[in-house]
Amino acid sequence: MPLKPVMNTLHMPVETGDDVAALMRMLHEIAIEPSKSRQSRLSRDLGDHFTYLACVKPELFAPFQMELAEMSGDELKHFNVVLSDLVPLMHGASDACTVTVAERLHNNPNDYVASDMLVAIGTAGALEEVAKHARRNDCVDAYLDSGVHVPETGPAEWRFSPNRYAIFKNTGGKVRGDDALKDCNPIGLPLKMVLQEPKLSNVTWHYVSIRTSDIPGLPNWPSTHLHLVSPRREWDWTMYFHSDECGKYGGEELIVDDEYDDDGEIKKMQKSLCKREPGKERGFVTLQPYDDRLVYCNGHIHCTEGVEGTAGGPPIGLYPNPICPTCNRLMFHAFTVTDRIRSYGDGWRSLFVCEDCYIVACNATSWN
Ligand SMILES: [Zn+2]
Repeated sequence: MPLKPVMNTLHMPVETGDDVAALMRMLHEIAIEPSKSRQSRLSRDLGDHFTYLACVKPELFAPFQMELAEMSGDELKHFNVVLSDLVPLMHGASDACTVTVAERLHNNPNDYVASDMLVAIGTAGALEEVAKHARRNDCVDAYLDSGVHVPETGPAEWRFSPNRYAIFKNTGGKVRGDDALKDCNPIGLPLKMVLQEPKLSNVTWHYVSIRTSDIPGLPNWPSTHLHLVSPRREWDWTMYFHSDECGKYGGEELIVDDEYDDDGEIKKMQKSLCKREPGKERGFVTLQPYDDRLVYCNGHIHCTEGVEGTAGGPPIGLYPNPICPTCNRLMFHAFTVTDRIRSYGDGWRSLFVCEDCYIVACNATSWN
């Protein structure tokens, strides 16, 4: 079943406009549910229904955009939907809807559901309101975490594509030698294929290379693939590279987030060093659009067998996203996978680009 509500408490059809109307009524009902524990379970399960709707049949939600925008704060507290799913639901909503949401935000500048809604609408008018809200309330950084760049003047800007593709890991197959990049998205390449000077580099691990033409909404990019690589660190690092016209990385910079102990001293980072030696694990990834072949549970698709990440969509939003070291613009989110794409380190790995400066950032964060 593609829809698997995480708490197994609520099972409603999501096939027609009438079904969506019933989901919206359920949101009202959950807000007045007397049992807090049941309220929480229902809210999480209803969230999975909306996730499924957003990923498989988002067009059914268009007639309900204004109803969501006008819901009370109490009701929206139980709207358990993250930004990446709110985007397909609210994208392109009417100017009247933008005005309604902007008013909410004006009245309550900390209404994060309203600010997510404005981002998700994503029209010129909505992104103008996002920029005003960010500057007026000094919360530019919160938008950066959501993948939204707020320049000093003018409207805010999505630094992601609204379209998402599931990344499936396939193991096995032949090791491909020098032709590995010709026609697939290989896992586990020799570092000499992706780095200009592998012997001088901090990179110790290649996860995966994905064709630029497969990544939804990627701005113009000069080479055929983008490579996700890692230094000898478990998590909390970012590496920046200049990409040459063949796609090989050079000019690297490694940033490791410092950890502090109780006395404010920087902890020795030894424990976050990755012990694993380069292995023989090989394979490739394939990308498939979000549709009813995936399993939607707990607001994500990772219960689907073989899924190890997503290309497109906003970044995961739990950690600061990389800023281009050359032009200071928030970098464009290309894809995010788990460390299981080729076992090394622990947590999420993401790849970002700045299309103006031809700079790539690979970063790693722990789970949450
Ligand atoms: Zn740049």
